[in-house]
Amino acid sequence: MSRSAHPAGPRHADVLPEGHYSAPPADLNTLDHKVWAQTVGRDADGVVTVGGVDVRRLAEEFGTPAYILDEADFRARARAWRTAFGPDADVFYAGKAFLSRAVVRWLDEEGLNLDVCSGGELATALSAGMPAERIAFHGNNKSTDEIRRAVEAGVGRIVLDSFQEIVRVAHIAQSLGKRQKAQIRITVGVEAHTHEFIATAHEDQKFGIPLAGGQAAEAVRRALQLDGLELIGIHSHIGSQIFDMSGFEVAAHRVVGLLKDVRDEHGVELPEIDLGGGLGIAYTSDDDPREPHEIAKALTEIVTRECEAARLRTPRISVEPGRAIVGPTAFTLYEVGTVKPLDGLRTYVSVDGGMSDNIRTALYDAEYSVALVSRTSTAEPMLARVVGKHCESGDIVVKDAFLPADLAPGDLIAVPATGAYCRSMASNYNHVLRPPVVAVRDGEARVIVRRETEEDLLRLDVG
Ligand SMILES: *Cc1c(COP(=O)(O)O)cnc(C)c1O
Repeated sequence: MSRSAHPAGPRHADVLPEGHYSAPPADLNTLDHKVWAQTVGRDADGVVTVGGVDVRRLAEEFGTPAYILDEADFRARARAWRTAFGPDADVFYAGKAFLSRAVVRWLDEEGLNLDVCSGGELATALSAGMPAERIAFHGNNKSTDEIRRAVEAGVGRIVLDSFQEIVRVAHIAQSLGKRQKAQIRITVGVEAHTHEFIATAHEDQKFGIPLAGGQAAEAVRRALQLDGLELIGIHSHIGSQIFDMSGFEVAAHRVVGLLKDVRDEHGVELPEIDLGGGLGIAYTSDDDPREPHEIAKALTEIVTRECEAARLRTPRISVEPGRAIVGPTAFTLYEVGTVKPLDGLRTYVSVDGGMSDNIRTALYDAEYSVALVSRTSTAEPMLARVVGKHCESGDIVVKDAFLPADLAPGDLIAVPATGAYCRSMASNYNHVLRPPVVAVRDGEARVIVRRETEEDLLRLDVG
């Protein structure tokens, strides 16, 4: 491999430093639809387009950085989940992954329900017209005020997370002359992340009530006694970015075990079971997520089988995908600033955003891919690290990836699969302004969350 004129650091396989990467792909211009939204492609000039709109036009019109969301892809994924689970189950989109009023409307139109976990998310959902009975309210420390607002609004369920909350919600509902539908969130001793799960993970975490030691059974006992509550089911959420269904299998087995104990003790068959979210997506070409129909089939079979064995009527199943719906639908569009080759190491490519628009790499050591999108290139691959503009050396967006060696300031690059947990976790670190979310569909682009302005920042700072 010869070196180009550009001093781009090491490229030769045998001098590459350690890192989280495999060999460079055969063609850096190819866009793998495992990680890119469905309508993403390149036009005749090699410029990437999404929803029929060219990224150079998007950058010009909306600036960078910007989250560019493929609305058709979002709707298709939402619909695929809805269809896969059918009319006898419910799909709750986990709003914390990314929530805006446009998203709420799409979900409503596609027949999905919605999980919220704060007063702010509840307000967003209600203001966009999501029917309250299709909203579930989660969280380990809901305030009295948040609970009151949720009960008053008539949310379809509150997911109870502690003994104190069982009493709190019951009292608030009773004081409002209501009987609130609720599920109890339990921890089943299963922890699943990506390709592994631990079936004996102890329940040492802030969410839920442990099944172990009979605590979950005691929670059911108390909830059934309170007039302000209508206990409709049991909830379990075992992790995130999960590919392996065996964690759900163990969880379902344990949840159904509790339903059976409840039936035996109280003569009550709780009608619902929620298996949570956490289904994985592809961040790089190495990830192989399952399709919604495979997941639906597997989960339905597991629950049905367990219930038959326990001689229970099969409860109505619900699931709560967040990442799996919105994650793959968006990419972050950045303009390349400084390009700094470090000899014997890698080339640092600075972009006009960073950890304020994508904290996942710093927070979870997450892996991402990246591509040059404003043009194609035939230059050889260079090992790059995409970093932000923040005053923090951990400000990394993509730890290790190959970009063409002729990459230069002013080029546009994009990081795919940033639809989930990027805008929703965005910060103002260094008083950097949070980027807009631009939805693209059928050749049209529109802002659904506008870019923050310095005026916004200064408005909060009352001097
Ligand atoms: C975070 C969360 C989800 C969604 O997780 P994803 O990984 O985005 O699918 C679903 N349910 C609960 C209770 C959660 O906390």
